[in-house]
Amino acid sequence: MRFSPQHYKIPDQSMMPFIDADEIWDTLQSTQSTPESVERVTEKSLQKNRLSLEETAVLINAEDEKSIQLIKDAAAQLKQDIYGNRIVLFAPLYIGNQCVNNCQYCGFRASNKEAVRLTLSDKDIENEVKALEDAGQKRLILVYGEHPKYNAEYIAHTAHLVYAVKHKNGEIRRVNINAAPLDIRGFRMVKEAGIGTYQIFQETYHYETYKTYHPSKKKSDYAYRLTALDRAQEAGLDDVGIGALFGLYDWRFEVMGLVRHTNHLEACYNVGPHTISFPRVQNFSEANISEKYKVSDEDFVKLIAILRLAVPYTGLILTARESEAIRDESLKYGVSQIDGGTKLELGSYSETKNEAQDLNRRQFQINDNRSLGEIMDELIEKKYLPSFCTACYRKGRTGEHFMEFSVQGFIKKFCTPNAILTLAEYLEDYANSEIVEKGWALIECEIAQIDNEKIRIETLEKVAQIKLGKRDLQF
Ligand code: SF4
Ligand code: SF4
Repeated sequence: MRFSPQHYKIPDQSMMPFIDADEIWDTLQSTQSTPESVERVTEKSLQKNRLSLEETAVLINAEDEKSIQLIKDAAAQLKQDIYGNRIVLFAPLYIGNQCVNNCQYCGFRASNKEAVRLTLSDKDIENEVKALEDAGQKRLILVYGEHPKYNAEYIAHTAHLVYAVKHKNGEIRRVNINAAPLDIRGFRMVKEAGIGTYQIFQETYHYETYKTYHPSKKKSDYAYRLTALDRAQEAGLDDVGIGALFGLYDWRFEVMGLVRHTNHLEACYNVGPHTISFPRVQNFSEANISEKYKVSDEDFVKLIAILRLAVPYTGLILTARESEAIRDESLKYGVSQIDGGTKLELGSYSETKNEAQDLNRRQFQINDNRSLGEIMDELIEKKYLPSFCTACYRKGRTGEHFMEFSVQGFIKKFCTPNAILTLAEYLEDYANSEIVEKGWALIECEIAQIDNEKIRIETLEKVAQIKLGKRDLQF
């Protein structure tokens, strides 16, 4: 049996879920894909148009080598046209792993009695943030289990705490949140705390699968979770991130779910999600799930390219769950944000814990263990421009993500110069001598490519000021 909105029992009809499994499967099954139709759809994407469900299905159903190459080439082209060579960097900070839920795939599930339960104290948070600032981080995502302790007041409190830590030249300039769905009052409160993006992953858009993997407590309510970001919008919090955990159900359905969710937010609130995340289950036995829907590396790269083409205006995040090789490949086809120097064990940025403890203090396994410095080195070597930019959010330029793409010349005028300035700060304050040399060479090259003379001169002046010790200069 397949589930459509009429199957959900929710009292408030204005919060009617918008995922219709029949519609998604019918579209997938009735859409033909040929090299010609793939070419037509990719052409539309290259004009920076979002794709419909049917057009997305054309790309998903492409199986022949020629069509898949067309998809990858178009995604690489679109990525270059929109983002250029910029890659935004951030780090996750786990605040607490107490949780009332029992998500079958998660090391923090309530039934896992081996897990060491911790909530960082205010002092611990301060120490963690200092350590992250000392590595050069400027953007964090705070992560919480689902527990009465981690309510909106507490989330707001921790965001304030993080912003208040200033160590040497370091500061966190953007705090994003990954936590349980809130009610409208709660979203209002965390918005007032000055958070950036509020991320909630649906995990799977497929109702029955969702019910299987989320058997108990609050998270079993599919509709409440699905409509969480509608409540965020109602509360005036329009900077939101969506995501699915790939490997729970058919990847083709999940891609359609993500696109449908994006289209829903755009249609209802005139603003799509700021970011889409697509973590992939890595260790099926550790995660208590069958391998039936395991996503191969090949399909994973394909689905990233499809997402890039389907939602050109949305940032795509790939985390350190993936290996260095996959992260490298996916940067070409659409990923615009990655984490660097990630440590998942609670309290581990500022401490050294032994391995036995660590196994029970993390949510899942990571496969890219490089430090932020190593990732910076690699990005610079490959001529990517690493960015810690948070300028729009702090200058009150709201709807920043949309502006980035819709305002003529915005990227050249703001994003690239700001990426250069944040890289210059990093090189001055945190980089080792090898990165310093390559980094300044990259900055020189990037500045030379700024064709607007006024902006080029202003960038040069600001970089000179950074060398003299000024910080937080922005366009
Ligand atoms: Fe709790 Fe989140 Fe883990 Fe589910 S995924 S058990 S809600 S921490
Ligand atoms: Fe984002 Fe604004 Fe910075 Fe561009 S200038 S990277 S839109 S914060």
